[in-house]
Amino acid sequence: MLTRRAYLIEPGKLEVKETELKLQLQHDELLLEVLACGLCTWELNHFQGRIGEAPMSLGHEFVGKIIEMGSSVSSFEPGDVVTGLPGALDGFSEYMTVAAKNCEKIAPGIKPEHALGEPLKCVVTVLRGAAPEAGDYGVVIGAGPMGIWAVQALAGNSLSALIAVDVDEEKLKLAAQYGATHTINPATVDTVEAIREITRGHMADFVIEGTGNTKVINDGIKMLKAGRGRLVLMSSYKSAAESLDVVGMVERSAEIRVPHPGYSLNEQDDLRRAVQLLNKGVFRLEGIVSHKFSLDQIQLAFESLEKRPAGYLKGVVIPKL
Ligand SMILES: [Zn+2]
Repeated sequence: MLTRRAYLIEPGKLEVKETELKLQLQHDELLLEVLACGLCTWELNHFQGRIGEAPMSLGHEFVGKIIEMGSSVSSFEPGDVVTGLPGALDGFSEYMTVAAKNCEKIAPGIKPEHALGEPLKCVVTVLRGAAPEAGDYGVVIGAGPMGIWAVQALAGNSLSALIAVDVDEEKLKLAAQYGATHTINPATVDTVEAIREITRGHMADFVIEGTGNTKVINDGIKMLKAGRGRLVLMSSYKSAAESLDVVGMVERSAEIRVPHPGYSLNEQDDLRRAVQLLNKGVFRLEGIVSHKFSLDQIQLAFESLEKRPAGYLKGVVIPKL
């Protein structure tokens, strides 16, 4: 069977081509009609030529409807909408195949473009790193999609305070709407002093750094309490930090945790947890998905991901938009 699929032809240039899907579905696979696939900042590494070799397909934040099931699949039914962890980057397609064991079912009533399992799985792994405890003071720096989802999940966690930090007032408003108890704009306030005041001198039990700016790592260290405060590096960083405040780390006996996928030890289980939180309404993507593109608009989609027009938070490709 034929499918239309987006390929990165050379850095900066994508094209949609017809390609042949495998003729025979493996016994443990699903054939999906792709309903949505999220645009992920990490794939700018491919788009900008830092990872992989063109031509290559992209897309790992897929949501699809089951069209056909391999003979041994019993956990789903045709017509179920699923999300999951991909075996290959090929979500920017009309159809794709995926191992059934890597998928989780989306509850009816959740729009496919709001059911992106893979980035939410990453947020669950980040929360493992933050390891919130009752009464903690928590800080999330960077109220982009990942930061907001972290806020959504932490909001019900009986923290003493959940403090969102961002230079963008609109993003701070969203963070407050989804459960941040305090918001701080470092452009107008001394963040460390503001946190000292909010926490009455205790400082943060954990700080999640989500800006991707290495300079902010040292700010995060200054926000931590003394004695095993957790600095959680959620972002991917493009270059080494010019300096790391090791003195500040030693003074506080700080822990730095890097909960990227390998930290999880069981990514499939983190996906299962993420989809359960999505299905029960803890993760809410409707206010976060800001831009939608058809498969034919894939070039525009990646340019928007790269340039971030005003109001851009999270883009998705909906093949049949
Ligand atoms: Zn992603």
